Amino acid sequence: MKFQTSEAFYKSLFDNMTDGLAYCQMIFDVQEKPVDFIYKRVNKNFEKLMGLKDVIGKKVTKVIPGIKASNPELFEIYGQVSLTGKPKEFEAYIEPLSIWLLVSVYSPQKKFFVTLFQNITKRKKIEKDLENARIASQNVLEDLSVEKSKTEIAKAKDEAILSSIGDGIIATGPDGKIIVMNKVAEKLLGWKVEEAMGKLYNEVISLEDEKGTLVPLEERPLTKAFTQSTTTTTTTTTTTNILHLLSKNKIKFPVVITASPVVLDNKIIGAVEVFRDITKEREIDKAKTEFVSLASHQLRTPLTTVSWYTEMILKGDVGKVIPDQKKYLKEIYQGNKRMIELVNTLLNVSRLELGTFNANPQPTDAIAIAKSVLDEQKPNIEKKKLVMVENLSKDIPIFSTDPKLLRMVFQNILSNAVEYTAPSGRIELTVSCDTKTVAIKVSDTGYGIPKNQQSQIFTKLFRADNVRAKDTDGTGLGLYITKSVVENSGGKIWFESEENKGSTFYVTLPMDGVKKKEGAA
Ligand code: ADP
Repeated sequence: MKFQTSEAFYKSLFDNMTDGLAYCQMIFDVQEKPVDFIYKRVNKNFEKLMGLKDVIGKKVTKVIPGIKASNPELFEIYGQVSLTGKPKEFEAYIEPLSIWLLVSVYSPQKKFFVTLFQNITKRKKIEKDLENARIASQNVLEDLSVEKSKTEIAKAKDEAILSSIGDGIIATGPDGKIIVMNKVAEKLLGWKVEEAMGKLYNEVISLEDEKGTLVPLEERPLTKAFTQSTTTTTTTTTTTNILHLLSKNKIKFPVVITASPVVLDNKIIGAVEVFRDITKEREIDKAKTEFVSLASHQLRTPLTTVSWYTEMILKGDVGKVIPDQKKYLKEIYQGNKRMIELVNTLLNVSRLELGTFNANPQPTDAIAIAKSVLDEQKPNIEKKKLVMVENLSKDIPIFSTDPKLLRMVFQNILSNAVEYTAPSGRIELTVSCDTKTVAIKVSDTGYGIPKNQQSQIFTKLFRADNVRAKDTDGTGLGLYITKSVVENSGGKIWFESEENKGSTFYVTLPMDGVKKKEGAA
C-alpha cells in the first residue's frame, strides 16, 4: 500500500469507526503534574458521542468546563499513560455531559495519547436498574422474614391463648374440615388434636337434643354460621332445649354452644364454635328449682288453712264480726289469696323446669273457658271502665286439650291486657279457628311495650320498665309460663306492640297438640 493510499484508508477507518477517538497532547505544570490536555485530532463519532464541536486545538478544561472537578482521575490516568506508554482501560462517568464512557487509552508518543470511547450510558442504566431491583428484592425478602417472624410470634400467642381458654374451641375451613382445636375441646370430646385435624366437623362432633334425637346437620349452630352468616348461641334457660355433645366414646354432656362465621372480604372463610360443658350449672339449677318446688309445696297447706279460717270468721261462723274487724279480715283474705297465686305460679315454673308439668288432654270447649275467664276479670274491667269487645267464633269445635292449661293461657294474656291498659281503654278478644288450629288474639289500647325490651318479654322474671314504674304487683313469670305451656302443646305465641298505643298478643294452638303427660300434683 502506498503511503497516500494508506493515509486515505486510515482516515476513512478513523472517521467511520463506531467508537469515538481523540488524539491529544498532555500538558504538565512545572512539577510535571498533568493539568490539562489539548485535542489534536478527533473523529466524527467523538463529536457525536460527546455532543461536542470544534474541539481541535482547544484545551479540555475549556471544551468541557467542570471536568477537572468531576473527573480528576482522567488527568491522572492520561498523564500516566502519556508518560509511561502503558495502555489502560477504564469506565468513567462524565458528569458535565451526563454520559458513561468505556475508555481505552494508549500513548503513541511521549506526552501524547489516544483515547477510544464507547458510550455505555445505556448499559450502565440497565446495570443500575438491575442493582436497584436486586436491592429492592433483598429488602422485600428482609421484610418478609421480619413479617414471618412476627406472624410466628402472633401464632404462638394465639396458640397460648387458645390453649388457656376454659371453653372448647373448634374452627373449620370453608369446606367444614377442622383446622383448629384447643386442649379443652380435645379433653371434652376425647379426640386427639392430630386425629381430628382435617376431618369433617360432623365426623368428629355429634349433637343430640334433650330427648336423644340427633340434631340434623343443617340445624347445627356451625352450619347456620355458614348458611345464614349469623352467630348462634344455644339456650340454657329451659331443660327442654338444651343440646348435648357426644364424645368419641359416646359420653354425653350438656353444652352451650356459640358458633360464628369467620368473614374476610365479605366471604365466609370458615367458622368457629365455642362450647362449654354445663353439667355443673345444670345440677345447681336443678337443685335451686327443686328447692323452690319443695318450699312452694310446703307453703300451700298453711296458706290454704289461713284462707279457710279467714273465710269462716268473715262469714260470722264463729261469732259476730264488727265492721272494722271485717275490713282488716278482708285485707288478710286478699293478701293471702295473692300469696296462694304466687306460690302456684312458682310451683308451675319449677314443674316446667323439672319437666314434671302434667297435661291431661280431654274434650274441651275453648269458648266456655274464654267466657269464664272474662267473667273472672269483670270486676277489674268494670273498675277501670274498660270497653271489652268479644269476637268469639261459634264454629270452634270441642277439641282435645288440657282445659286447665288453656285456662292459664287465657287468664294470663287477658289479665295482662286489663292490668296494662289505662282506665277507659279498649280490649278486644278474638277466638277463631281453621280446620287444624285455634287462634286467640287479645288487643288492647294500653301502655304497650318499649321496642328495646320486646325481645325479653318471654324471659323469666322480666317486667318492662314502663309498667314497673306504674304497677308494683306482678312477677314477670306469667308470659314465661304461658310460652312454655303453649309451645309444649305444639302452639305458638307472639305479639306486636307500640309504647303508649297498645299491644296485641297472638296464640295459636293445634287441635291435636296436647299429649297426655303425667307430672306432679
Ligand atoms: P307480670 O304481668 O306479672 O309482670 P308477665 O310475664 O305476664 O308478668 O308479663 C311480663 C311483662 O310483659 C309485663 O311486666 C309487662 O311489662 C309486659 N306486658 C305483658 N302484657 C302486656 C300488655 N298487654 N301491655 C303492656 N305490657 C305487657
